[in-house]
Amino acid sequence: MAPRGSSKPRQPDPFRGLTAGVQVSTAPNPGPKTLSGTNVYLVGSRVLIDAGPDDARYIDVLAESILRGGGATALLLTHGHPDHAGGAAALAERLGVPVYLAPNADPSVLGSLPDVRELGDRDTFDTPSGAVRAVATPGHARDHFCFWLEAEGVLFCGDTVLGVGTSLVARPEGDMAAYLQSLRRIRALHPRLIAPGHGPPVGDPLAKIDEYLEHRRTREQALMQALEGGPVSLDELVDSVYGPQPSEIRRLALLSAEAQLHKLMDEGMVTMHRGAYALSEEAPPAAGDA
Ligand SMILES: [Zn+2]
Repeated sequence: MAPRGSSKPRQPDPFRGLTAGVQVSTAPNPGPKTLSGTNVYLVGSRVLIDAGPDDARYIDVLAESILRGGGATALLLTHGHPDHAGGAAALAERLGVPVYLAPNADPSVLGSLPDVRELGDRDTFDTPSGAVRAVATPGHARDHFCFWLEAEGVLFCGDTVLGVGTSLVARPEGDMAAYLQSLRRIRALHPRLIAPGHGPPVGDPLAKIDEYLEHRRTREQALMQALEGGPVSLDELVDSVYGPQPSEIRRLALLSAEAQLHKLMDEGMVTMHRGAYALSEEAPPAAGDA
């Protein structure tokens, strides 16, 4: 509702308060992977984290609200996936702010941004609510960063931890070993609140991160167990570990299992020969495909 006496009609404010220094807006792009939509955060009324998808109407509402509040100084991107970075070029242009993104992001994303600056580990961005520090957290994507508002104990997690369910780590962009290391790195910060890229805030971050680590450990053990019976294909492995699943879930399970298997191969625990995975103590099947 427009305040009494305002002359021009106002769009409803897209932001709602999360903590004393943080506001959040959820983009209108709900879906199975984006949950209720991509969360866009405004820290200290000055620094933006993620832009949401390329949605002109939403960008307009965001920009109007931020400009009304005195404008922003920087747009930080957790990673270059389109549901987080798609709206970045248009939003940055409207606000006249630089965009900070990891230099190893997809060149097509980097090239689309009007004023892009290289984001480095431990870079800090001052806001009236405290400094926001960049924390390199590859895994979900190789260019992934979290952002740490130490003054409030809030960690902006992008897709490393989600408000609901688990994060997708899929090759070739995703890297399970790097992902697990990133989870341990953000755990060591002892955040009080996780502000995820999708879904509601996580009020008990350490328990959530431990749950994520345990989930991957359990999956890894299940895969290793399934390999004990001899070499098997990825399809067979997913059947035995995940059981029958609807096709979209199965697709995600295949991606997830493949990422986990590549971690095990990098560690020398598993080998792959002609599409069949085996525990590395076992000789690859000489005539397995015959
Ligand atoms: Zn993503």
